Amino acid sequence: MVITSRWSVPIPRCSLQQWIFGSACGPLPDHKAFIDPENPDANYLTLADYRLLGKRVALGLQKAGLNKGDRVLIFSGNNLFFPSVFVGVLMAGGIVTGANPAFVRRELAYQLKDSGASFLLVAEHAVKTAFEAAAEAGLPRDRIFVLGSSTVPISRLAWASSPGPGAGARVDGARHWTELLAGHPAEADAWSWDEPSDPEETTCCLNYSSGTTGVPKGVEISHRSYVANGVGVAFMRRLRPDYEKKQKTDRGLALLPFYHAYGQTFFIANFPHLHIPVYVMPSFDFVKMLSYIQRFRITTLTLVPPIVVLLAKHPATGEYDLSSIESIGCGAAPLTREVSEEAERLFREQRRDGGDGDVFIRQGWGMTELTCTAMSWDPNTPVRASAGVGEVYPNCRAKLVSLADGRTPIERAGERGELWVTGPTLMRRYWRRPDATAETIVVDADGTRWLRTGDIAFVDEYKPGGIFHVVDRVKELIKVKGNQVAPAELEGILLDNPDVADAAVVGVTIDGEEVPRAYVVRSPGSAATEQDVARWMEGKVVRYKQLKGGVAFVDAIPKNPSGKILRKQLRERAQKEVGDA
Ligand code: AMP
Repeated sequence: MVITSRWSVPIPRCSLQQWIFGSACGPLPDHKAFIDPENPDANYLTLADYRLLGKRVALGLQKAGLNKGDRVLIFSGNNLFFPSVFVGVLMAGGIVTGANPAFVRRELAYQLKDSGASFLLVAEHAVKTAFEAAAEAGLPRDRIFVLGSSTVPISRLAWASSPGPGAGARVDGARHWTELLAGHPAEADAWSWDEPSDPEETTCCLNYSSGTTGVPKGVEISHRSYVANGVGVAFMRRLRPDYEKKQKTDRGLALLPFYHAYGQTFFIANFPHLHIPVYVMPSFDFVKMLSYIQRFRITTLTLVPPIVVLLAKHPATGEYDLSSIESIGCGAAPLTREVSEEAERLFREQRRDGGDGDVFIRQGWGMTELTCTAMSWDPNTPVRASAGVGEVYPNCRAKLVSLADGRTPIERAGERGELWVTGPTLMRRYWRRPDATAETIVVDADGTRWLRTGDIAFVDEYKPGGIFHVVDRVKELIKVKGNQVAPAELEGILLDNPDVADAAVVGVTIDGEEVPRAYVVRSPGSAATEQDVARWMEGKVVRYKQLKGGVAFVDAIPKNPSGKILRKQLRERAQKEVGDA
């Protein structure tokens, strides 16, 4: 049985940038869009600055040779300029692909090659990795732009009349990003981007995800899907009691990375659209986060589970006034109700003489392949004594399918099945991978495209508004602190090691955290140790993909007759060997 969202909300037919700004040249309210929390009075961009800088980046990229549909890879941590570069690529008709700024050469080169990026925008601190990866991918130096950090105070006058700080400087043959701004601001001011003729068929982002199986793939998200996601977020926020009053004082804190769909949708698109100022953290620091909440009276937080754990358990939490917080959302990985309640108790105690009403941590569920959120809570629905992820997102539909045959629909509340979702936020396809697309998207008899999510879930009531609970995964994916780790990627690297004859990687939960653990068959005659294997991974993958769950040697990797790794069996074994009871 299919559960349809209780809400059908119109989706404007326009580009993401049009949805954020309303238009290319129309007046904008004079409010701060992005603020540096370390220098809030001098260092900020208004909504109009955000759009104008975006247009200047767009003109600069077009002059540098960007054509419609070209990919631009952004390899940077958060800063005030990142959102303008992001929308600038879209305004120029390009496609953004973001990469984790901690990626090592191999990972970045993979994404550069796979996406076929024609430009790379890179943060100053990541230039070395960027140059090495670009050389491997065959991207010329003059296609690399070095992105300034927001620690350079932004002088409003300078932005209005000149290219900006650092212009003209070259870094070993790469260009400074402010060269992109070189066109006179007046030209950009009057310039309008071309709206895509079909926003549903026009990709705006390639966000990397391994999906249910295999290595990371580019997830093609259209302008329409991003807008549909934003429309849903805006609609859900408006359901809050006293919305009109609260909306005037809402303030967000961007501590999630902008290269990822979660950070992008909330902070680059939805909050600016809703005119919610965003304080931008360049990297995550828990105590700084607490101090910013207190200092700037932040009202809304968008988190991942490890941060909620810190809120609940870190001694510093109690030392700051967090009474301004009114809503907290959390997603990307499972979160237990017990941990949420610990944190909620703290907020409740603080608010006794502070704000009004209780604060609940509302868990959502989403997937890169569904743009971002696909299940969330109506703020008027009481959070029950459960760890549910809310109900089906506006304009979307969900169903559960038998785990035994992958086909039969589940009709009973409480019964577990694989979660399938459809709606306007569903990806167009995997970039240049028709086979992976066909494996993941099932087209039913009436032409509906369903995403097989690879998550195991049940619903508490079979009706619109039923609350879903995500309880496990059938897919290979491992999530470390909310970050994707694809076993197939790690297995590929292990198999490159001459000491390794075969390998399988599975997730194991240790101290409440999922981490990767490898099972390895040694090559004949090899005396490699666990440390040797773990060391092999160093420098080949970012830190969170390292084998923190350990390495175990086995005689053979368990496989089915067609050679598929029996991951469930290995996961159970790993959990018994090293995991939480
Ligand atoms: P990503 O594409 O990186 O957003 O990862 C999506 C996957 O993260 C989902 O398919 C789930 O396996 C997992 N996930 C996201 N949110 C939750 C949640 N609230 N509870 C459990 N798993 C989640």
